[in-house]
Amino acid sequence: MLAANSAVQLKEEHVPETSQRVAIVTGAARGIGAATAVRLAADGFAVAVLDLDEAATKQTVDAIVEAGGRAIGVGADVSDADQVQAAVDRVAAELGAPTVLVNNAGVTKDNLIFKMSEGDWDTVINVHLRGSFLMTKAVQKHMTEARWGRIVNLSSTSALGNRGQVNYSAAKAGLQGFTKTLAIELGKFNVTANAIAPGFIATDMTAATAERLGVGFEDFKTMAAQQIPVNRVGVPEDIAHTVSFLVSDGAGFVSGQVIYVAGGPRD
Ligand code: NAP
Repeated sequence: MLAANSAVQLKEEHVPETSQRVAIVTGAARGIGAATAVRLAADGFAVAVLDLDEAATKQTVDAIVEAGGRAIGVGADVSDADQVQAAVDRVAAELGAPTVLVNNAGVTKDNLIFKMSEGDWDTVINVHLRGSFLMTKAVQKHMTEARWGRIVNLSSTSALGNRGQVNYSAAKAGLQGFTKTLAIELGKFNVTANAIAPGFIATDMTAATAERLGVGFEDFKTMAAQQIPVNRVGVPEDIAHTVSFLVSDGAGFVSGQVIYVAGGPRD
C-alpha cells in the first residue's frame, strides 16, 4: 500500500470519486442552508458548503465530516460572476462534478417602498436573482454533461406579497419564473428544477426581523404560530427534508414546481 503503490495512492487521493454525487448548497454556513447541507450529506452526497465567508462554513463542514460524510467549505459571493466560476471550478476539482445545486443564499433589506434605498433594492435582487442565475449558469454545464441534475431554488411565501418587502418579494417571485424556465430548458438533459417557498422558518433571518420590529424572538414565533394551520413555526429541517425529496432519483418527474412548505396552503 505504501512506497510501492505511492503513485496509485496519490492518484486515488487526487481523482474525485465519480460514484458519489456532488451537491452545492449556497448560504450553507447557517440556517436552512446548513440543515440542507447536513441532510444531503446524510443522504449520501458529497457537499460543497458555500457561503460568503469560507471560515463561517467550518461548523457545517465539521458536522458533516464528524457524521462520516464528505464536505468542503467554499467562500464566494454568489452575486459575483468571477467568484462563482472559481467556486464551481474548485468544487469540480476537489469533490467532483456538481450535479445538485441548491440556491439558498439570501438576505433581507426590508422597508416600505417610500423609504427603500436603491442600494437595498439592488442588494436583495442581486443576491437572490443574479446569484441564482450565476450559480445555475456555472453548474448546469456539469449537469448537462452528466445527463442528470437537480436544481432547487429557495423562494418564499413572500413571493405572494409581504408588507415591507417589495425587493424580497419581487426576487422570490422572480425565482419562481426562473425555476419554471429552467425546467423547460434543461428537462431534455434529465435535469429538474423546482422551487421551495417556505413560510416562517426559525433562523437568524427571522430572528433579525423580530429584532427590527422590537419583538422578542420567542414572542414573535408564538405570534407567528397562531397564524399557521399546523400551529407551529417551521424549522430548517422542514425545508431540508423537502430538498432531500426533490433531489432524489425518485423525483425525476417533478419539475418546474413551486412547493409551499408553510404549515398550510399559502398559494
Ligand atoms: P440566514 O440564516 O440568514 O442564512 C443565509 C445565509 O446566506 C447566510 O449564511 C449568509 O451569509 C448567506 N449569504 C448571504 N448573502 C450571500 C452571498 N451574496 N453569497 C453567499 N452567501 C450569502 O437565512 P435562512 O433563514 O436560512 O434563509 C435561507 C433561504 O431561505 C434564503 O434564500 C431565504 O430568503 C429563504 N427563506 C427563509 C425563510 C425563513 O423564514 N427563514 C422563509 C422563506 C424563505 P452571511 O451570514 O455572511 O450573511
